[in-house]
Amino acid sequence: MIVQCPFCGAKYEAPPGRRFYVCPYCGTALSEGKTYENVYIFKPAVDKTAAFKAVLNFRPTAAPEDLPAASPVEAELHFLPLYLYYVSFPPLDQLATYATALATSSPPVPLPPSFRFPARWRTPFKPTLERVGVFHSPDLDPEAAFTSLQEVVEEARAYAQVFKVKIGVEWRLEGLVYYPIWRLAYDYRGRRYSAAVDATDGTVLYMEYPISARGRAEALGMAAAVAAGAAALGAMAAAYVGLPPALGAAGGGVASLGAATRLVLNLAAARVGKYKAEKRL
Ligand SMILES: [Zn+2]
Repeated sequence: MIVQCPFCGAKYEAPPGRRFYVCPYCGTALSEGKTYENVYIFKPAVDKTAAFKAVLNFRPTAAPEDLPAASPVEAELHFLPLYLYYVSFPPLDQLATYATALATSSPPVPLPPSFRFPARWRTPFKPTLERVGVFHSPDLDPEAAFTSLQEVVEEARAYAQVFKVKIGVEWRLEGLVYYPIWRLAYDYRGRRYSAAVDATDGTVLYMEYPISARGRAEALGMAAAVAAGAAALGAMAAAYVGLPPALGAAGGGVASLGAATRLVLNLAAARVGKYKAEKRL
């Protein structure tokens, strides 16, 4: 169905059966046809220039030295919808807390696995007629989204266990929160790469990057060293059990293709590296 935003007048497509509709242009949230009041936002504190700087100076493994000279091409600010919950753990009142969880099943940028969004420092949201970014609609059920907060529940349980108290878990949906993330594109030697930066603090969340010839060579060298080491071990083991050493060496070489070797070999073979931030709070 088509919804008309009561604030900015824009019309947008809204799939039926959702609890909230979010205007992609101004962020006004509708719930059951009425403007939804409990909406918060994390204010972007990092501008486009700073976001590009963060990415191009980040220099992940095997990135070229002149990456900071790459050309910024596109920057778009995206607001991800989060559900805001008030979570309590009766009977321990002191454990009650606000927590947020991603409310969309298809975020516009790749996020680190089990990325945890903050709940503090949110401010009340006012819709804006300036085009500041793209607001995304929630499409997850709040109950389903809450399951991503398992860690919050585990922490409370661990705390309660110290005092030998058995706790329950209760939550209520308190509202919507928008979280700003920059989606960026830059060019390096005629090729385009994408990246994502947390617009609240400038953390690089995701980044594609060129792998330099030198980075590839170094990775190949490392891979060769690892393989040679493993082959030597294999030959030793073969001698010990009385196999022809050549056979043992081949076996050792293949067996050494563990996770670390694969990473190095991937770097050696690939032209595009991918960096994803580790999970964080
Ligand atoms: Zn609007």
